[in-house]
This record gives sequence, C-alpha cells and structure tokens, in this order.
Amino acid sequence: MVTATASARKKTNGKRPRVKAQEPMLIGGKWVDSVSGRTFVTLNPCTGEPICQVAEGDKADVDLAVKAARKAFEEGPWSKMTAAERGRLMHKLADLIEENADDLAALESLDNGKPYKDARNIDVPLTVKCYRYYAGWTDKIHGKTIPIEGPFFCYTRHEPVGVVGQIIPWNFPLLMQAWKWGPALATGCTMVLKPAEQTPLTALRVAALAQEAGIPDGVINVVPGFGPTAGAAISGHMDVDKVAFTGEHTTGQIIMKAAAESNLKRVTLELGGKSPNVVFADADLDAAVEGAYFGLFFNQGQCCCAGSRLFVEDKIHDQFVDKMVKKAKARKVGDPFDPATEQGPQVSQEQFDRVMGYIKAGKTHGAKMLCGGNRVGTKGYFIEPTIFDNVTDQMKIAREEIFGPVMNILRFKDIDEVIQRGNKTFYGLAAAVWTRDIGKAHRLANSLRAGTVWINCYDVFDAAAPFGGFKMSGIGRELGEYALQNYTEVKTVTVNLGQ
Ligand code: ADP
Repeated sequence: MVTATASARKKTNGKRPRVKAQEPMLIGGKWVDSVSGRTFVTLNPCTGEPICQVAEGDKADVDLAVKAARKAFEEGPWSKMTAAERGRLMHKLADLIEENADDLAALESLDNGKPYKDARNIDVPLTVKCYRYYAGWTDKIHGKTIPIEGPFFCYTRHEPVGVVGQIIPWNFPLLMQAWKWGPALATGCTMVLKPAEQTPLTALRVAALAQEAGIPDGVINVVPGFGPTAGAAISGHMDVDKVAFTGEHTTGQIIMKAAAESNLKRVTLELGGKSPNVVFADADLDAAVEGAYFGLFFNQGQCCCAGSRLFVEDKIHDQFVDKMVKKAKARKVGDPFDPATEQGPQVSQEQFDRVMGYIKAGKTHGAKMLCGGNRVGTKGYFIEPTIFDNVTDQMKIAREEIFGPVMNILRFKDIDEVIQRGNKTFYGLAAAVWTRDIGKAHRLANSLRAGTVWINCYDVFDAAAPFGGFKMSGIGRELGEYALQNYTEVKTVTVNLGQ
C-alpha cells in the first residue's frame, strides 16, 4: 500500500534527495534559464505534487545549444583531443556516476516513481557499465584500407557524424541518456539532449558530473522542455546532423518526417513493441513464470520490450496461470523508497489514465480479468498488477502497447500457430521463448521477426549486446559495436601513388 511520505522518509533513512526549487539548463558549459524565462513543473508520481520547476527550453534555446555544440565540434578542445583522452574522460564520468550512485538512484526514483532499489541496483549500474563499455571503444574506431584498381592507395576514415540531437523518454531516464551519450562521446560527436518532460532531473545531474569529469564546454548540452516545441526544434534543425530518438512509434514518425523535411539528418529510432513471450509445455515452469512475471511487471510495466503478449501452451495453461496470479497478487505496490516495494506508481496522470483505459477495454472486449484492475490508494498514479486471461489476437489489449502493469495471456496449441500469431503485429522489438527443446527454441529465435530474442530468460541487457527493432519498432541498433555506426560517417580517401 502507499506509505505516507513522512513515515517513508524515516524508513529510508533520508534517502530522498534534496532538489533545488528551480533547475536551469546546460548550454555551452553554462547553467542558464530559458530564453523565454519560462519554466515547467516536474511532479512526484507518488503524490502528483511538484518536485521543482525546470527551465523550459524551446526553439531559441535549442538554437543556442546547437550553436554551442557546433562550436565545440569544430573548434573546441574536444575535436583536437586524442581518442584515448576522450576515453579517459568517459571513464571519469562513469566513476563519478558510480560515486554518486545513491543520489542519482534516489533522484531517478523521485522523478520517475520506480522503486529506489531497482534504480540503485539496475538502472545506475547499467548506466555506469554503458559509459565504461563505450569509453573502451574510443581508440578502437577505425576504417579499412581497400585494394582498389590502379596506382592508388585507398582507405576509409570513420569520422564523427557531427552535432547530434537526442530525444529520450521517461521510463529509463538515466539509462536512455547513457545509450545516447555513450556512443556519441566515444565517436567524438557533440550533442544536444532533450530529456522527457516528466523526468528531466537525472539528465541535468549527469550533465553536471560530465562537467566535473572535464568533458569540455559545449560537447554536452541539455535542453529540457516539451516534445512539440523543444523536441521538434531539434528534429527539424538545419544544423543537427543526426537525431536519435526513443519513444512512441507515432512520435518517431513525426521526427523522421521533420528530419526528412529539414536537412535529411540521419535518424535512429527505438520505438514501441508488443513482444510475444512464448511458454511451451516442456519449459521449466517455475522459471518461465518468474521470467514472464519480471518481463511484464518490471518497471511498472513501462518497458518498450515488455512481454505483453504472453502465449502459453494449452497443456500447461491452468497450472501456469495459477502460479502467475499468486505472484501478481503478492506483488507489493507502494512507496518507491520503501525497501519492500516492488512496484511504484505509473509515471504520470496521463499514463495512469491510459493504462486504466486499456484495463477497461480488456473487460469490455471479453477478456477474463483474474486479478487487479484497480487504482491503489487515493493519491498518485498507482495501479494494481493486473492479469487478463482468454485474450485473443484481435483484442485492443493484444494489439496496442499498454505500457503498464497489465499482463495478457493468450493460449496456443502448436509451434507453427504460435510463430504465425507471434509475428502478427507491426512491432518487432523483442520476443522470448521458454522450452527445454533446443530445436524448438532456435526455430522460434529464427522465425520471430524481432530485434532481440531471449531464450529461457527475459530482459537480459548488456552494453555490448545490440538492441533495437524490426518493422515499426525502430530503425538502427543501440548498444554494442553496432551503435557506433549511427554516430559515424564513412569517408573514403584515395591517394594517387602514380605521380
Ligand atoms: P510518451 O507518450 O510515452 O511520453 P513520446 O514519444 O511522446 O512518448 O515521448 C518521448 C520523447 O519524445 C519525450 O522526450 C517527448 O518530449 C518527445 N516528443 C514528443 N513529441 C515530440 C515531437 N513532436 N517532436 C520531438 N519530440 C517529441
């Protein structure tokens, strides 16, 4: 249950972070107010009450930030620095994030609502690992020599793409920033980041740590603000060379259009999903229940790769469902700073309403609700872990991304059927299969049209393993070596050896 703020503070030994009344933005190494002087409020999703005001960026601020980023890219010490030195600064940033792990996790938890222990044990360590992984790449990014015909020496250079715009969502603010800044810094780009309006605080804090690490002025600029204003100014800017976006597919379409209609900037998109999670009768049942539970309810269900179409083979359906319902009913929903809490609030009123709307749709369309379905408490955006059974492919809850703690269970009979139904979506972000039959597992892995397939596991992330979508789940891959391609241009140089 939702714990009152005062008692929670005691229980958590003051882990709640202190926040300034107003947060400025970072442009060209300076912490400044917005040109318009406007601010917006960021709310605590546990209570719906204000945390603080944040400078509200718009086109004028984005213009200044892009100018600063261009200057840093062309003239600044960053462009003259050796690749190894860039790596050293990135390692320093990773170390500083690690040193400030408690504070950053608390700030993330406060702004986003995720349980503090998840922010501290998952988000922050993965963030640190991401910066370290890309710090290791800085001096290993290089081209090829190519044996072309004639008396020529031909080689390629992998040069930074330039000034990059980055627009991130609210579900994993620290981590999404690292997925964007890691490869951008490693390749020597400069950047303008717009955090989500719901969760701007950790982006600003990490930017301050980047300054402390010695990353030169103008390399990193952070302009908080709203999508249609600040976000649109980035995606439509004539002097931004590339835009990287994570969010809804409909926003991705707007961004790609803006990129096309301005300067054809490069676009990478990591969008939504409706990922099939397939449990065969021969699976380790307890492991599958645990994995499917985590794969859906983790992060309040606010994961683009959530296993939101849970296909369970007929033969084990009843057993599987019994176990799952017990787990969901026992899930502790409440104050993110209470160490016992497993699930915090949804991020905002808008998301709360949206998820409750899907629960209503599930009931109306004839799915069988086995547990949950209600708001928890009277304040904030808490929702009970909810399970729908007897879900069919055509139902709205089986087709659209819910982005909340709502599990849909669909039955299936055989492998051919589940492959065909698993692929019946315009998304293609992730998939999983639970079976002890190695042949079946690989057949599914090959047949499901998704950027990631987990076999007998779910949500296994590593900075070295690429992540991204097929179909309308996105364009390009983040993480791993593959992400570097998004941040580099290939230049071919040909030297005449005949003279
Ligand atoms: P959600 O609805 O889950 O918040 P969005 O795709 O709307 O997902 O948001 C992800 C990010 O995209 C946020 O930083 C948001 O401000 C930004 N955004 C929203 N609309 C636009 C837009 N028209 N242009 C650029 N960025 C946008």
